[in-house]
Amino acid sequence: MSLSLIDLRESALLAPYAFYSRDSSGRAYSEPEHAYRGPFQRDRDRIVHSAAFRRLNGKMQVFTGAMGDYHRTRLTHTMEVASIARTIGRTLRLNEDLIEALALLHDIGHPPFGHAGEDTLAELLEAEGGFSHNRFALTLVREIEHPYPIFPGLNLTYEVLESQDTRADKQHSSPLLEAQVVDAADSITYDAHDVDDAVKLKLITLDELGQLPLIARCLDRVEQKHLASGAKLTADFLRKSLVHELIEVQVSDLVQRSQQILLSPACTNAQEAKEAGIRLTHNSDMQTEKSKLEAFLYQRVYRHPDIVRVRLKAQNRLRELFQAYCDDPGLLPAHFRVRIDKIGLRQTAGDYIAGMTDHYCLEQSNRLSGKTP
Ligand code: MG
Repeated sequence: MSLSLIDLRESALLAPYAFYSRDSSGRAYSEPEHAYRGPFQRDRDRIVHSAAFRRLNGKMQVFTGAMGDYHRTRLTHTMEVASIARTIGRTLRLNEDLIEALALLHDIGHPPFGHAGEDTLAELLEAEGGFSHNRFALTLVREIEHPYPIFPGLNLTYEVLESQDTRADKQHSSPLLEAQVVDAADSITYDAHDVDDAVKLKLITLDELGQLPLIARCLDRVEQKHLASGAKLTADFLRKSLVHELIEVQVSDLVQRSQQILLSPACTNAQEAKEAGIRLTHNSDMQTEKSKLEAFLYQRVYRHPDIVRVRLKAQNRLRELFQAYCDDPGLLPAHFRVRIDKIGLRQTAGDYIAGMTDHYCLEQSNRLSGKTP
């Protein structure tokens, strides 16, 4: 009964190329339908209620907790991605429930200490096939999370799992339009919030950023709007207004270009759009401007000495911790030790570390090495 209500709603609101809940291939372990929640609403709720999702709160995005409390954590980044992705998805008349589930899931597999943690785990697990946060997200929701007594994992729908899988294997994949929106929203979000956080932390200045064409254009828009309103623009409001504009111009560009792309005759339904390899993109000018901004952020923010210092410290801690678990598997919790026979000790130790928050990782490393924080 519930699916027919959801179908009624989706039939009224969604475009033909959207993914409809009625077309879901279901779950690995079959479950009765919920009385009033659709399959992707249930997936979203399962993700939000998972331990791995809550731990995003203790995982760094770019800046650590020691650098203040203004900047984004992995959790607030995820919430911003979900919000922006839903706006884009609603405008393009895609399946917002599926988009929200995918957005909330997209970074769940990030290890402690961001990309520094990921690189270190990839190096430690080289013989095991490396480490990717996108693949680890699938391990978490299929094997490690265990909220139900009758099956392992969250038993998410095939579409959500497959979409996460296409993130892990970008070259050989043909993602649903909803998954593409989440990817685009991720990039829009971090380009905007990393500017905000880095300026607030005084790693870069607005004057330096103003040399970049995308920023110059946004600053110009800010100025025009404020001239019209007559409001006094302090440096603080200039930064905040710049971030609003950065999101606005990127989202508008993506929506406008996507609307043209979605006029393709292949977009009569989700499956055909997927098989035809339809790709939602920015206009080429915006893509070029975004690449320039990202190159600047890479050099000036992600490679900033303060960040590099954090990175090196985190990498050493992760290596020591990994070695300690490999030397003495008894240090691993029982529910991880049972995985050693199946996937090996090194992979088990890596998976355990990958699930940790930054703080818990440091705490464990201090405890095992007798170091003070
Ligand atoms: Mg992300």
